[in-house]
Amino acid sequence: MSDSHHHDDDHHHDHHDHHHGSLTHSLLPSDPALRVKAMETLLTQKGLVDPDALDALIDAYQNRIGPQIGAKIVARSWHDPDFRAELLRDATKVIGDMGFTGLQGEHIVAVENTDEVHNVVVCTLCSCYPWSILGIPPAWYKSEAYRSRVVIDPRGVLSEFGLDIHPDKQVRVWDSTAEIRYLVIPQRSENTEELSVEQLASLVTRDSMVGTGLPKIMGELP
Ligand code: FE
Repeated sequence: MSDSHHHDDDHHHDHHDHHHGSLTHSLLPSDPALRVKAMETLLTQKGLVDPDALDALIDAYQNRIGPQIGAKIVARSWHDPDFRAELLRDATKVIGDMGFTGLQGEHIVAVENTDEVHNVVVCTLCSCYPWSILGIPPAWYKSEAYRSRVVIDPRGVLSEFGLDIHPDKQVRVWDSTAEIRYLVIPQRSENTEELSVEQLASLVTRDSMVGTGLPKIMGELP
C-alpha cells in the first residue's frame, strides 16, 4: 500500500493571466475579493466589460452550472455501466457529447473510487479546477494549506474533512494542470437501487467529486 502522487512534469499554467502589468498590480488591493471588485470597476470604466454580462457569468458558474453538471454525470455513471466505461475511457469526449464544454478546452479525466482506491484532486501550483462541470472552486481548494498538505499527508487532510480512509485503501492524489482537470467518480451510496438518475444526482456533492467528501446517504435525501 502506498500513496502515490501523480504529478505532471509538464505542468503548464499559462491559462492564468499573468500579463497584467506591474502598475495595475500595485494599484489593486491584496485581498482577492477586493482585487476582483477593483478589477471589475477598472474594466467597466474602460468599457471593456458589461457589468450585467459579468453578473450573468458569475451567476452561471455559481448557481446554474455549479456542481450540478458533475453530479448529473456521476449519477448517470452509477446508473449506466456502459456510460461509466466510456466516461473512464474518455471523459472529455463524453462530457463534450453531453453538451458541457469547458471554456478553456482542457481535458477532463474521470477517476473512480473503488473498495481499493480513494482519489483526491488538487492543483499544487495554483487552482486549476474543472469549472465547466463543478462551477466555482471552494476557497479551501485554492488555499495554500490544502495545496501543499494534501500531497504530503492526504489521509491527514482528508480526516480533517471528516473522511477517514481505511488503512487498507490506497489514496491517490491527482495534481491538476491547465491541460488536465480531474473528476472523481465517488462510490455509489448504499441502498440506492430504486432511485432515478435525478434522485441519484441529488446525492452527489461537490466535495465527493473532488475527493474530500462522500456522496450523501439515503437518509440525507432532500
Ligand atoms: Fe492551477
